[in-house]
Amino acid sequence: MPELIAIDAAEIDLITRAYQHYAELQPQKIAVDDPERPELATPNRLAYALGWALASIVVQHRFPTLGLDVLPVYHPETGWDRFLFTRRVSCRLDATEPADSRGVLWLGQEDAPVYTLGNALRLPLGTLCANDPAEAIRRLLYVVPAPPLKRGSHETCVHSRATAYPMIYRVVAGLIADYPQLVAAREIFVDEEQIDGAYHPLYLATGALLKGWTYDYFQLVAGEQIAFLRTDGSLITYETEPGTWRTVGELPLDDPSALRDYLRDVLKLDTPAPAADTDKTS
Ligand SMILES: [Zn+2]
Repeated sequence: MPELIAIDAAEIDLITRAYQHYAELQPQKIAVDDPERPELATPNRLAYALGWALASIVVQHRFPTLGLDVLPVYHPETGWDRFLFTRRVSCRLDATEPADSRGVLWLGQEDAPVYTLGNALRLPLGTLCANDPAEAIRRLLYVVPAPPLKRGSHETCVHSRATAYPMIYRVVAGLIADYPQLVAAREIFVDEEQIDGAYHPLYLATGALLKGWTYDYFQLVAGEQIAFLRTDGSLITYETEPGTWRTVGELPLDDPSALRDYLRDVLKLDTPAPAADTDKTS
């Protein structure tokens, strides 16, 4: 039986804001002369913001009870070009499933974003988001598979512990919709060696406990500002001035708008960034 899906106004608003702030932006390639700072690279900047909006909506509906997470992926040649739908990093009992087993949202295809599920299903959402965002959301939620959790103990799974994650995801997607200079990663490599004479801030902040790939944080980058926000909202590590990092707990998790204001301050999003709008067409 098809589920009845209630689409709230905030979800449609997220898509509307993505159009307001990204519709004029040109695709951004990885700069050949500056491969170390490719954060904004993506084949389609509007699709990137729409992708975050749609990913956030899927997480709201499918993470709390079914453990489904949606992860943006950075491709070394094209930049942000897809989101993976998966329980691989959110549920211990599905830790070995392929990272794309619940589908992929493509940002570089015709009429992006385009959701695919293997070779069986292809759902272009670009035109639909523009014409009827509520219908785009409904169709996406209808086709994304999210079978019941496997039998067993889920007590230590991320989907059980990180109850604030969907709210944080929505706040991040909202900031991305409003601030094109902001990018967010969910897949972070923490090197245990020094790079350019400095250790990774998460390596230091965790007392060298965290190393290798981690999915426990949002990495938020806006120009020179960078912050690492834990997916459960328990703490944030950010650079207060070049080379100086601060870790803070007790974030306002009971008030999404307060969290949004807090992140805007930390990332200095309301301070015009010199390089933020160089790719506008006008
Ligand atoms: Zn689980």
